Amino acid sequence: MSRSLTYRCLNCLEHTMTREFDTSHLSVTCPNCESFERFVNEAVFRQFRAFEESPPPEIEWERLDRAEKFVVSERLVRSTKTLKDFEIVNHDTSEASPYR
Ligand SMILES: [Zn+2]
Repeated sequence: MSRSLTYRCLNCLEHTMTREFDTSHLSVTCPNCESFERFVNEAVFRQFRAFEESPPPEIEWERLDRAEKFVVSERLVRSTKTLKDFEIVNHDTSEASPYR
C-alpha cells in the first residue's frame, strides 16, 4: 500500500494536493490561486499553525516573517533540530534569521 502525503499552497493556504512521495515541499503552479508556489508538507503546516496559535517561548516567533516561520517549522518537522538550535533569540531584528 502506498501512502500519500498532503501538501498545501503557501500563497492561498487553501489548496492542497497529495503526492505519494515524502518531501519537505513542492514547487508547482497552484490551480486555485494560479501562482507558481511552494507547497509545504502538511506536517510542516500543522507545526506552523500550532506555533501561530501558541508561540513557542524559546524563540521570538512573532518577529519572524511568514517565510521564516515556515523555515523554522520545516526544520523542526523534517530534521532533528529543536528550537534551541535556532539562534534567533535576543538578537536585533536585522539578525533574527533562522537561515543559519
Ligand atoms: Zn494557491
